[in-house]
Amino acid sequence: MAGRGSGWYRGDCHVHSVCSHGGELTPERLAVEARAAGLDFLAATEHNNADTHGTWGRHAGDDLLVVLGQEVTTRTGHWLALGVRPGQVVDWRYGVRDGVVGRHLDEVHRGGGLCVAAHPHAPYDSGTFLYPYQGFDAVEVWNGPWSSDLPWQADNEAALAEWGRSLGAEIRRGGWRPAMGNSDAHLPGQIGVPHTVVRAEELSTDAVLAGIRAGRSWIAESAAVELSFVVSAGAQRVGVGGQLESRGGPVVARLGVRGVPSGAVSFHTERGKVHVASLPGAGVGVGTVEWRTSARESAFVRVEVRHPGGRMAALSNPVTLR
Ligand SMILES: [Zn+2]
Ligand SMILES: [Zn+2]
Repeated sequence: MAGRGSGWYRGDCHVHSVCSHGGELTPERLAVEARAAGLDFLAATEHNNADTHGTWGRHAGDDLLVVLGQEVTTRTGHWLALGVRPGQVVDWRYGVRDGVVGRHLDEVHRGGGLCVAAHPHAPYDSGTFLYPYQGFDAVEVWNGPWSSDLPWQADNEAALAEWGRSLGAEIRRGGWRPAMGNSDAHLPGQIGVPHTVVRAEELSTDAVLAGIRAGRSWIAESAAVELSFVVSAGAQRVGVGGQLESRGGPVVARLGVRGVPSGAVSFHTERGKVHVASLPGAGVGVGTVEWRTSARESAFVRVEVRHPGGRMAALSNPVTLR
């Protein structure tokens, strides 16, 4: 598997081992479960420590990249530092009132790392994210199973709605903050639900983080779900995270899905949910949906795929239109 070049890679960037409070899995076990879940990479994000950084080398391989990271659990929200140096621990002993979070984001950025606002609408003490998103590279709009009755489960629907609402204004300002999805696994059987599927030049920390930073990614409930989202104008074709120069002409957004029988597809722009369609119920739920628009009507297009009943199966970052 050496020399894995440009392609789509599946990864879970929020994973805890026994070195985090509540974690039950050894790094070895996490690596086994990551491979079984169809992942190509994971990020080790213990709570405020780097205790496992030295152990991952023997569990990683050409088929499984391990990105070194940390979950920085501050008093007023948690964030993921991804792509830190071996042994690097980012300070967590502050809250929004202290005005110092930017300094710590800079520290991670200077080393080439990425900062992600974690589970912004988690309902427990200190879990709700109270910092402005400014300075963060991505938002974890999907953390763990999409919805459940567990009182500590992140409110993914609220996080997604907030992110979707901000996109139009962010794109107008010339930048937007990609969405990502991670499991926040602490227990057996949790890793990979959900995970982020990233277009990267190769399977390396720098290439994967560059793909996440650029929003060349979509979020999958599991490796059973496949999505291809391409937006075209004439001969031009752009994938998720890209910008299509349509020169005012007609634009076709085309979504292919596999693995969501009887699923509901929706297309979203700054005008909200603009198109819905159903996937076939037979077999593994393979279907294609097309929707036509123009840059005048839509500054961006993104898609969601839900199971019957509303549970999310996959969602994409936007393609922007000019
Ligand atoms: Zn957390
Ligand atoms: Zn966590």
